[in-house]
Amino acid sequence: MFTFIPCAAGCGRSAITGSNICAVHSAEAEAEAKRIALYIAGEETITDLNAEGLRFDEVDFSGRRFDGCTFQNASFYRCNFSSSFMRVCFFDFANLSECNFEKSNLTFLSFAGASISNSTFRYSEICNVNYGGCVISGVVFDHSKLYNSRFIRANLEDTSIIDCDLKQVNLIKICKTNVIIKSSNTNEAIHTMEQIQK
Ligand SMILES: [Zn+2]
Repeated sequence: MFTFIPCAAGCGRSAITGSNICAVHSAEAEAEAKRIALYIAGEETITDLNAEGLRFDEVDFSGRRFDGCTFQNASFYRCNFSSSFMRVCFFDFANLSECNFEKSNLTFLSFAGASISNSTFRYSEICNVNYGGCVISGVVFDHSKLYNSRFIRANLEDTSIIDCDLKQVNLIKICKTNVIIKSSNTNEAIHTMEQIQK
């Protein structure tokens, strides 16, 4: 798991991997994001990376394995995570737009409070992933297994969940606008607190 090295500016945030300061206090956050992207490009497995608060535009993260990495509060625009294999990674309060997670294998990830728009998670294994409090707009989850994932208090609009495995998926207090859910086992999902308390 990534280690917490406090930012040298004393702000209490975590320093970026390979730096002694956080993205907010870095005078060259753009260069730091490029450095991290270059590092990822050169590795098959990325472990314990801290890239909190950085902005990534059109970066190829595909086909790689990520273990114990944090991208909290980071921004991703047109990034490719397809065929990636991720374990225990954090995208809390991140902003993801036009990103591709197709055919990925995601377990124990957290997107809590994140904003995910115009992106795709099709044909993926999404197990124990937390989308709690997410704003999800224009996202396609079709043909994916979402086993035991949680969308508690998420706001979903213009989103498609077709032919998905929703076993034990927690949909408590979600807000839906123009969400297509079909050919999925919604009867095996959790819709109310009473179902948990049984
Ligand atoms: Zn700082």
